[in-house]
Amino acid sequence: MRVLITGGAGFVGSHLAEKLLSDGHEVFVIDDLSTGSLENILHLDSHPRFNYQIEKIENESVLSKQIDNCQVVFHLAAAVGVRLIVNEPVRTIETNVHGTEVVLRCAAKKNRLVLLASTSEVYGKGTNFPFSEDANLVIGSTKQSRWAYACSKALDEFLALAYLKEKNLPVVVMRLFNTVGPRQTGRYGMVIPNFVRQALNGEPITVFGDGTQTRSFVYVGDTVQALAGLMNEPKAIGEVFNIGNDQEVSIRYLAQEVKRITQSSSEIVTVPYEEAYETGFEDMPRRVPDLRKVKAMLNWSPKVNLEEILQRVIKHVTASKRR
Ligand code: UDP
Repeated sequence: MRVLITGGAGFVGSHLAEKLLSDGHEVFVIDDLSTGSLENILHLDSHPRFNYQIEKIENESVLSKQIDNCQVVFHLAAAVGVRLIVNEPVRTIETNVHGTEVVLRCAAKKNRLVLLASTSEVYGKGTNFPFSEDANLVIGSTKQSRWAYACSKALDEFLALAYLKEKNLPVVVMRLFNTVGPRQTGRYGMVIPNFVRQALNGEPITVFGDGTQTRSFVYVGDTVQALAGLMNEPKAIGEVFNIGNDQEVSIRYLAQEVKRITQSSSEIVTVPYEEAYETGFEDMPRRVPDLRKVKAMLNWSPKVNLEEILQRVIKHVTASKRR
């Protein structure tokens, strides 16, 4: 099949491109390189079934042609990363809302299947663990930019499902939980690339808050298997899926693990949230997915454990430091 990936030069998008190529599909990428990079897709450039265009998805005439030419659209282009969201809330809201609007409008013209990447952020301050797809979404105050991200992606979900309801557009919503692995950049705040870089450079490993907050990290290679699986599953249409790992770890434990595996002499330090982000910043103390729905639909479950994930990220960061 011909598959378009918006944001295909990003971290998840580039891994998805690899997976789809290895499954025999023809892959088209559109990316404006705002947070993605050419380096992520350079190794695919010579592949006969790989094509890319550097352009904004908001350029409707270009996007429309790309979508017309494909049978399936993975919509991954979005503003991501807590640091980016806190620092650039206007860009976050506009990219996430307007970009998705354009993708869905273009897809509706030719009734293309759209798989929308959403995020576990939409669960916000929810306290019913693990988070299941039908749970209420609990968002904080509009004075905290962080929640703009959650709200913008929740609106994307509403819009996608509205297109299905009103225009019969086939859509699938995928809520990605902390997805990690080689090529993820630490520039926008993501914890694992930052900890690994700090440990390898012998700099202090910065745990924000008291480090008791937990996350569950899924390997990007596991994630893209689920994404590719959903594309081939007609029963997934109109549904929302959590995609992640349900093995929780505290951020302090994560810092200790990174230090241990890299054999780093770095000190582990704590940084108050207001210093790390902004005054009044609210973190999510816990975030863990209920994976029953995606497991039942695809017979999928994450395979790569945290230790292996860290080994692979460390190897990647070490190799790119040498280049
Ligand atoms: N974090 C940290 N140090 C860092 C970057 C992040 O302690 O250098 C914490 C962050 O406050 C959060 C967790 O690690 O509790 C995961 O952060 P990330 O930005 O990777 O993803 P989030 O789950 O917040 O979207």
